[in-house]
Amino acid sequence: MRAIIKTKPAAGVELAGNFPEPDIPADHVLVKVAATSICGTDAHLYTWDKSAQGFGATFPFVMGHECAGSVVSVGANVTRLHAGDRVAAESHIFCGACYMCRTGNAHNCYEMKLLGITWPGGFAEYVALPERVCFPLPANLPIEVGALFEPSGNAVHAIQRAGNIDGCSVLVTGGGPIGLVIVQLAYCLGATSVVVLEPNPFRRKLAEARGARAFDPLAPGFDIDGIVRKDYARHGGFDLGFEVSAAPGTLETLLRALRREATIVCVGLPSEPVPIDITAYIAKKMIVLKGIFGRRIWDSWEMLLAMVESGRLDLSGMITHRLGLEEFDRGIELLKGPSAKVIISPN
Ligand SMILES: [Zn+2]
Ligand SMILES: [Zn+2]
Repeated sequence: MRAIIKTKPAAGVELAGNFPEPDIPADHVLVKVAATSICGTDAHLYTWDKSAQGFGATFPFVMGHECAGSVVSVGANVTRLHAGDRVAAESHIFCGACYMCRTGNAHNCYEMKLLGITWPGGFAEYVALPERVCFPLPANLPIEVGALFEPSGNAVHAIQRAGNIDGCSVLVTGGGPIGLVIVQLAYCLGATSVVVLEPNPFRRKLAEARGARAFDPLAPGFDIDGIVRKDYARHGGFDLGFEVSAAPGTLETLLRALRREATIVCVGLPSEPVPIDITAYIAKKMIVLKGIFGRRIWDSWEMLLAMVESGRLDLSGMITHRLGLEEFDRGIELLKGPSAKVIISPN
């Protein structure tokens, strides 16, 4: 089969024309991939920077972790899925047996494998998935929207982790796809105002189209303290923060711009440790720092599906490009410019 392969610890990928199709063990299904979206993580894997090296991948591996498609065959022990079913993949392949899995916390499995990094991924004509990580999709849901459930589920998890949003002002650092879904969900759940800090002008436009005020944090004269003094002084700052960019300095911006006893949810994965003034922010200001990695299984997925099916959350508007496997390098390049989600169709 054709597949995007990372063959060595260096920049770039290869398009294999004749990669072996995956075996399907008894509890797995074979999925013919219809759509796999490119993630910021794929750009890190592509360039093989420090954050990519931290995942523990071994070579060669098939990339792609945001995928959806149709089941074509099932292993002998598969009971729930059948050929023809449409599914999206939970990319965090949990073991089902460790302490965290057995206590209802499979999203934090100790033995977790990562689709498209430490498990053969979905930038390929076929992917083999354990039945337990397949999320069945309704027949009327566009399959490329199904591929967006994995990244969008991170936004849902961040919102779930934040707690009550009703009546809150929200500051989001990073207006990429996950940040944009956080904007939509925050308004759905009662946020009074959302501000997004994002250097990419195209993504600022998308944030504004979703009702947020968007600023370029790298522009000369950008002054978060001034914004707080002008519009958020009554509470002493924003009520809630989401760090989605992993860019240097953004956590400090949030810690400064949020009011006392506010909550910050960290979604981005900085490649270096981030220093924090514990005295000023955690002790005296009593800010609560939380983080998420991936989605709650399956709470985040079910909430996301309900929001999409009700029409309150639109994901399709985030798709800006559709490419074939052979255009993968261009897809990575597109992430730097006027784009949100780039969909690869391997078949
Ligand atoms: Zn991703
Ligand atoms: Zn586990």
